[in-house]
Order: sequence, then C-alpha cells, then structure tokens
Amino acid sequence: MTEKACRECHLISQGSTCPDCKITSLSDDFTGLVIILDLKDSAVANAMKVKKKGRYALRVR
Ligand SMILES: [Zn+2]
Repeated sequence: MTEKACRECHLISQGSTCPDCKITSLSDDFTGLVIILDLKDSAVANAMKVKKKGRYALRVR
C-alpha cells in the first residue's frame, strides 16, 4: 500500500483519508520523514505545529 501525506497536517497514513483531519486531500508526492515520539521536548514538533505523535512528511507537494 502506498503511503500518503496529509496536505494539512503532514501526517503520513496509508488510507485515502487523514486519520487526524478527516480530509481526503492527501498527496503521495512528499519529501522527508519526521518521526515524532515526544511532543514536549521536540523542537521539530514545535516548529511543525504537530499535536500528536506519529510520522510526518517534511514537505508535501
Ligand atoms: Zn491531516
């Protein structure tokens, strides 16, 4: 199954709907992969405004 990244929150999922935003605006054209494990101490999570743990694309086209 191909993985797609949400254009809104950049969350990577395998379905056609973002499990977080419930939108279907997903793209399979993304670069970079960020795995957020700890939200509190993650500067990356802060910079990306990530609210949940998970795998995120750095850039979604
Ligand atoms: Zn999303």
